[in-house]
Amino acid sequence: MRGIDDLAVSGQTVLLRADLNVPGDGTAITDDGRIRASLPTITRLAGRGARVLICAHLGRPAGSSYAERRAGGPSLAPVAARLAELLGQPVTLAQDVAGESAAAIAAGLRDGDVALLENVRFEPAETSKDDSQRAELAGRLAALAQLYVGDGFGALHRRHASVYDVAALLPHAAGELVLAEVAVLRRLTRDPARPYVVVLGGAKPSDKLAVIANVLDVADRLIIGGGMSYTFLAARGYEVGKSLLEADQIPQVSLLLSQAAGRGVEIVLPVDLVGAAGYAADAEHDVFPVAEFPADRESLDMGPATRELFAAKLAGAQTVFWNGPVGVFEFPAFAAGTRAVAQAISQLDGLTVVGGGDSAAAVRALGFADSQFTHISTGGGASLEYLEGRTLPGLAALEDSA
Ligand code: ADP
Ligand code: MG
Repeated sequence: MRGIDDLAVSGQTVLLRADLNVPGDGTAITDDGRIRASLPTITRLAGRGARVLICAHLGRPAGSSYAERRAGGPSLAPVAARLAELLGQPVTLAQDVAGESAAAIAAGLRDGDVALLENVRFEPAETSKDDSQRAELAGRLAALAQLYVGDGFGALHRRHASVYDVAALLPHAAGELVLAEVAVLRRLTRDPARPYVVVLGGAKPSDKLAVIANVLDVADRLIIGGGMSYTFLAARGYEVGKSLLEADQIPQVSLLLSQAAGRGVEIVLPVDLVGAAGYAADAEHDVFPVAEFPADRESLDMGPATRELFAAKLAGAQTVFWNGPVGVFEFPAFAAGTRAVAQAISQLDGLTVVGGGDSAAAVRALGFADSQFTHISTGGGASLEYLEGRTLPGLAALEDSA
């Protein structure tokens, strides 16, 4: 795959697809991690004399037409402001995605300038399943620039116009973030140092059964916690009360458990749970062994014996991939399990990778520094699909050396 140093960018307008999809509370950006992660490519391009025109999405604009979405937002204006602050140079925001304003701004760029197009998801064609609709938007985007750089790792698993279709229309390369993310994911899939332990949590097993099947081929041990663990416990015959349960997934989960046994992969499940009276930050709660979980309680976190067990099963690991909080960490009373997993992983010397939007937000919210892990991926869906062994459309488009 070509990198940006393989392109002659000086004096050229480079359309840079970045992932600037940061969480916010309506006015302020609450975690600017994805903007920071995009800086190396932007500064390198600008430093080499490129005219950098960034294309990115934010949130899920509602409405069926461009006009409705444009009116409803969210605009990338706060992102442009934060990016300008971090870069220490002005970032002009176009008033549209690939219309008159974008064309005027692209035409006015000087070498080393950086500008941002409005939220590409204002254009309904961006995410359209109709190839010709996406092609039309990709054509308008490509007309703004001479070169294309794909650096939006978190969107690479989407067959979207600005991620997939436009790459075929311009000479292209992968950005620094994409190359770094892919290099780490490769280390997880090809000959990882052992023991290799995978920790999976989060809300639903159905989201992650495909990745589990693939993980069984490479990992030595799989720790399952959080919302998805209750379906695993139910498959082993335990009562889980009112905890999250995907009863229809039990046969599939049972199959995975027997496949794991057949391949000698150890599956670690919770041994005790924090059972709450309801789903609330201040819900009354107690600890129960999994064999004595009451029918009227809902588990929102792992119990103390499970926290110790998970930490012991992580100790000595040479490679770790962790996706999914193991409790409702958003409620401080139910964050202990997730904190224990983060703590245990942060103490390891080997390759430690945290992937997933909520997982990354959880470790930062719980006070861990990014530097305590080898890598915190900017893309949850993209990294999981990579680990599932699926072809990421955006990556395939960048690899194709047209
Ligand atoms: P990621 O975004 O890192 O891939 P997910 O989206 O799969 O993670 O899961 C995150 C969500 O799972 C969080 O909002 C968290 O509250 C929820 N969750 C984790 N453990 C539990 C649990 N024990 N019960 C209910 N929800 C849980
Ligand atoms: Mg999530």
